[in-house]
Amino acid sequence: MDNHYEAIVIGSGLGGLTAGALITDAGHRVLVLEQNDAFGGAATTYHRGAMTVEASLHETTDPRTTADPKGEIFEALDLYQDVEFVPVGDFYEVRCPLIGAPLSLPHGTEALGRCLTERFPHEADSIHRFLKKVAAIERALRIIMEKHDGMWWLAHGAELPLRLWSVLRDMRSSLSQVLERYFGDNEAIKFALAANLTYYSDDPDRMWWLMYAVAQGGFFHGGGNYLKGGSQVLSDRLVDRIRGGGGEALAGQTAVEILLGEQGAVSGVRYRPRAGGDSTVAHAPLVFANAAPHVIENMLPRVQRDQFMAPYRDKPLSITLFSITLGLSKRPAELGTRAYSTMIIPPWMERLTDFKRCAALLAGLPGGRFPALGIVDYSRIDSGLVDGALFPVSIVGLDRLENWEGLSDTQYNARKNAWLDAVIERLDKEWPGFADAVVQKDMATARTMHHYLNTPGGALYGFAPEVPDRLPFTGPPRTPRTSIRGLWLASAYAGAGGFSGAMGAGATAAKAALHE
Ligand SMILES: Cc1cc2nc3c(=O)[nH]c(=O)nc-3n(C[C@H](O)[C@H](O)[C@H](O)COP(=O)(O)OP(=O)(O)OC[C@H]3O[C@@H](n4cnc5c(N)ncnc54)[C@H](O)[C@@H]3O)c2cc1C
Repeated sequence: MDNHYEAIVIGSGLGGLTAGALITDAGHRVLVLEQNDAFGGAATTYHRGAMTVEASLHETTDPRTTADPKGEIFEALDLYQDVEFVPVGDFYEVRCPLIGAPLSLPHGTEALGRCLTERFPHEADSIHRFLKKVAAIERALRIIMEKHDGMWWLAHGAELPLRLWSVLRDMRSSLSQVLERYFGDNEAIKFALAANLTYYSDDPDRMWWLMYAVAQGGFFHGGGNYLKGGSQVLSDRLVDRIRGGGGEALAGQTAVEILLGEQGAVSGVRYRPRAGGDSTVAHAPLVFANAAPHVIENMLPRVQRDQFMAPYRDKPLSITLFSITLGLSKRPAELGTRAYSTMIIPPWMERLTDFKRCAALLAGLPGGRFPALGIVDYSRIDSGLVDGALFPVSIVGLDRLENWEGLSDTQYNARKNAWLDAVIERLDKEWPGFADAVVQKDMATARTMHHYLNTPGGALYGFAPEVPDRLPFTGPPRTPRTSIRGLWLASAYAGAGGFSGAMGAGATAAKAALHE
């Protein structure tokens, strides 16, 4: 009976681990299968020489300060005692020629309003109304997320349309449309408010305004946080919960086939060691797919594939990123950096919509335009990543899998190293002495993301957060339910991306499966 479980999770990203831990918490035995040697998917850390590399996390919200689906999960699994949120201070500093001197955005709606009004005094009224709107959306989200009994709905039902109006009014607006409504063609303030667009989308004309307002609003309101010790700490605690509840988590095991019973419902998963060897079958009536639907499709019997993929086939994928980690011999603060998180917008970007042009730049060698960069100095806070005298800095920018396709290994490495050196040179212009302080360097491209996470196009946030083309009340039809009985999506592909989105999707999948 050892190979019989109540649930099998394919992939150990945060969405899969959250579903697995909550199912374990409900008293069931779970098996997690992870193709890589480490658990966590993007939420992992690894070592390059003496340097600890954070594979993903720059900032996430603390659920105790803002509406966030992680809150319910942290409470249910008692994670606050093991996972420490470290506030990062100002949300980010933006360096953009259109704005003028570097501008640091504090968090807290009032402080943020004061800071922006000081820099853009002619926009004072619009800034006030814009931040009020973002805050109203966050409040509306809180109402939607809170658990209410029937009496509450009876008492508050009549006033709800008014309280939710901020959400309802802009159900089909893009980020560009709303920014335009408030700030016209003042591109400088748009860059100030969305300098970190790289982390969400490459196209403000198609990015869903509500998604921006909820994610960015959470940071505006409650500030950003890092997880002390790195994102691996969170992944490891979730694995501990699953193992502690009698389940198993196996690394280096690739799921290759989902087995269906006579009624077409899930009955198990076949998997084999990634390094090669015989396959094994594990049985369970529930399977949580943390791997992308495009990967799961090929594990299903051919006759089931079209129907399974129908909801996902035409959905555009989210952005992917390149990610550089540098180990410095000095604290970046000694070289003049002023914030945990800095956004550099290059001079050629004159409109927010120029973000659309960033990802394609890595298709050529550096020398021309530079993409927008997001930079994090982990030594500015008590991140737990500083090892001896090596100070880690992480840099991300938009990338595309197509940039790196069709290259030999030599060509690939030559272009990758050229960009790595060009980024260091760029940072040296911003902070003289930076290049000389670099003693360790590492770069992951869209190709690395694609291979390591087994995600189509290297997509890091599931599907793109685009304006919905239809109008269900909750926006794009993102649901963990699939056409196969017992098979649930538990990843960024079933909700929003990022740490909060992936964990929220895993929790929704677990709850739905338990109530089925
Ligand atoms: C450079 C970078 C910076 C980021 N910055 C932030 C940030 O600051 N804040 C934030 O909130 N988010 C950030 N993100 C995004 C965030 O990390 C992801 O959206 C989120 O972690 C995705 O989780 P997931 O559960 O959907 O899946 P993933 O983390 O993609 O995990 C999927 C897992 O499935 C496994 N798998 C695939 N196929 C199989 C198979 N056949 N068998 C077994 N296992 C399989 C993969 O190996 C992988 O472990 C960043 C990501 C990156 C890469």
